[in-house]
This record gives sequence, structure tokens and C-alpha cells, in this order.
Amino acid sequence: MRLDGRRESSNVEDRRGMSGGAKAGIGGIGGIILIALFTFLQGGDVTDVVQNVVQQTMQAPTETVGEENFTEEEQELASDCKKILASTEEVWTKVFEENGWGEYQYPTLVLFSNQVNSACGSATAAVGPFYCSGDQKLYVDLSFFTQMKRQLGVEGNTFAYAYVIAHEIGHHIEYLTGTLNKAHQAMNQTDKVTANQISVRLELLADYYAGVWAHYEDAMNHSMEYGDLEKGLELAKAIGDDWLQKKAQGRATPESFTHGTSDQRKRWLKRGFETGDMRTSTFAVQNYNDL
Ligand SMILES: [Zn+2]
Repeated sequence: MRLDGRRESSNVEDRRGMSGGAKAGIGGIGGIILIALFTFLQGGDVTDVVQNVVQQTMQAPTETVGEENFTEEEQELASDCKKILASTEEVWTKVFEENGWGEYQYPTLVLFSNQVNSACGSATAAVGPFYCSGDQKLYVDLSFFTQMKRQLGVEGNTFAYAYVIAHEIGHHIEYLTGTLNKAHQAMNQTDKVTANQISVRLELLADYYAGVWAHYEDAMNHSMEYGDLEKGLELAKAIGDDWLQKKAQGRATPESFTHGTSDQRKRWLKRGFETGDMRTSTFAVQNYNDL
């Protein structure tokens, strides 16, 4: 994905190097691969994306860094994130207009390191990127992307990062359209298995919206390059619940899925990209097994 010369969004709070001292507690537990499948923070609307993948080895830096100490790689990543955010602003403004949904409300991107406080509670970098509807902000620790590069082999592919951000923006769209609150209400009033199924619908819908974003982004800017979608689909596969569970424990238990299988995540991302059609929703699919 080419982003040269593109605008950086200013709806960004750079809180890197501000937290100081807090260490992620999950890193390096005896070398055991620990995959936490649910990271809902207390009382919040946190919906994560790919925390499952990097939680295993995440180690928070022990020192607070000043702005001048950011590496070139980190600064490039920060710049790409701001450009991707700017693109989502343009795309969703257009989509909201086209659908007569009024003015698109921009979310804020918070870049942080180590630990961050949100309206959904405080989180460490180990949680991975998340969206909090309480303050309409998405929280991203850039070390997540460097881990992602190493572990998932999506090296240097900007579209893979864009997918992660666009997925979190997807939750913001769910919030603005009322889907998120409705789903959370339903989740609070039902049993665990059904709540997990609703969670899967929310996550796959965020993947779908990420695809819709890429559809419009490419139509408006011709920024997608050969192999980009495949890289995104590779990432979608690597963060499927079945894939992660099989890797961690040798088998998958579908009733505990919260994000959907590899196939489902790939399918919804791809469908969004190919159609760009906002009339489709995972909540319109009657039978859960048909997702
Ligand atoms: Zn999510």
C-alpha cells in the first residue's frame, strides 16, 4: 500500500513515553505460550483485535523514552498510522454522506507505550490495539506492529497495519450506527455461549468494515498494490480463533470463539473489499453457522 505524500490526521494524541515504569505483566511467563482469548476490560466496551498474537512475548520497555529517542522505524510507523487514520476520515465521511447518515464523527487515535488510561479502564501494551466507545478513541501501541512483523511475517506491508487500524475504526462505525451498544446490551442479557456468538458477529463486522474502507481507499487513491489484500488475508488467518487455539492448546473449542475463525475473518474482510456495500451486515445473517 502506497501512502507517499498523503495527509497525516491531526486527530492524534501522542502519549508515547508518558506512562513510565509500568511493565506489562504477561510477558515471558516461563516461556509458555499464553494466549488469552478474552481481554474485555472491566466495565468497558473494549473490543480488541489481534492482542492474541503478541500477548505471548510482549515485554514493555523498562525506561520511559523521550520523543527524541524514538527510532526511525517507530516514527515511520507513527506517520503511517496518522495517514491511515486520515484516509479513514475521508472514506467514512464519504460513506456516511452517501448513506444519508449525517456527519461522520472523527475518532481520536492515541499512540501510547507501556500503559494507557482510557474511559474503558487502564490497559497495558499487552492488550493490543483496542477501541473504547466511552471516549471514541482507538488505542495503539506501536510496539504491537513491530511484534506483528516478527511473528506474522507481514514485514513492511503497510496494508497489514492498515487492516488493524481499519478494524478498530470498524468498531467506531459500529458505535456510530448503534450496532455496538445494541450488541453489548444483548451480550449482558444472555448466556456465555450466545454472548460469544454476538462478539464474533461484532468482530467479523469490524473486519468487513475494514474491507469496505480498503475498497473506497483504493477507488479514491489507487493506493493498493499487488499482494496487499493477500497480506491482509494472511493476517486475518493468523488471528482466527481456531488457528490461535490449535496453536496454543492443540484443539479448538468453537463455543469459546469471540473473533471468528480464520476462514470467517478472511471471508468478511475480502467481501467488504470486493463489494464496498454497507447494506451487508453480519447481524443480518440468520444462522450463526452461515457466517
Ligand atoms: Zn475487534
